[in-house]
Amino acid sequence: MSDQVFEGHPLLDPKALSHLLIAPTGLCWWCQQRPATTGEHKFKRTDLTRLMGDGGLLLWGQGEDIREIRGKSGVNRDRYGVIKFPKSLCEPCNNKASKPFDDAYEIYSKYVSETVLHRMPGVSLRHVYGHSWQASALNLARYYGKHFGCRMAREGLPIPESLRAFLGGETDMTDAQMAVITTDTIRKKYKSGFSISPNFVEVDKGVTRFERYVFAAYVGPIGIRYEWNNGGMEGRSQFFHFPYPVINAFKDETAMFERRVRRPGLIASLLQWAQKPR
Ligand SMILES: [Zn+2]
Repeated sequence: MSDQVFEGHPLLDPKALSHLLIAPTGLCWWCQQRPATTGEHKFKRTDLTRLMGDGGLLLWGQGEDIREIRGKSGVNRDRYGVIKFPKSLCEPCNNKASKPFDDAYEIYSKYVSETVLHRMPGVSLRHVYGHSWQASALNLARYYGKHFGCRMAREGLPIPESLRAFLGGETDMTDAQMAVITTDTIRKKYKSGFSISPNFVEVDKGVTRFERYVFAAYVGPIGIRYEWNNGGMEGRSQFFHFPYPVINAFKDETAMFERRVRRPGLIASLLQWAQKPR
């Protein structure tokens, strides 16, 4: 147990689970063939520069640990080593293979940054992407899938095969679910900034295997939540299969991890009512 605390809960030192972690192989976690020579950006440069405007303040945070990066030079130097993940992907996977993911994300991220959504019942992917929303929503989800995979690789967590298959063109993951979310504490803490949740993991009683992971990454208060469950995800619904996925609201990130949604705000309730199919 470390002396770090997250939302009142003590944070477990990852070393406590070291016997379950995978030692770095030096290979790309996606293709598992070529050497890992590149590090994926945790936050895209286009996001960061748009956010900073003329050298404004940028907050980076994980858990209670908030750091500041000032000005564009901060992004260029990445002096805290917080913008890029350690090298865990090969060049072809990180660039050419994931170009459509990056493109879909950039369009979505710009829209979400410029639109007040946290009181809305959902986000219209049809509005964001137009007629091609189905293909673009899948690529957006794959962008996040790559981001979460890089976080797993960094921590030494076994990467679900379903995630690799999804990046490779599958259109569902039977043991994982992705949802659009909004988290109140994130909105208060980071305002319109970009942030990522801690990596939540759950193990079995005997601490012999991982049972569940939950990760989230946010643009302002709007995030994508990924949950993997060793036993499969029955009754799952993937946001990227819907033209108007629901925004699931949480009070804080502990509730987000435990999937305890709060009631939607008044505006969302009214809009949900107004948009009920007749
Ligand atoms: Zn690769």
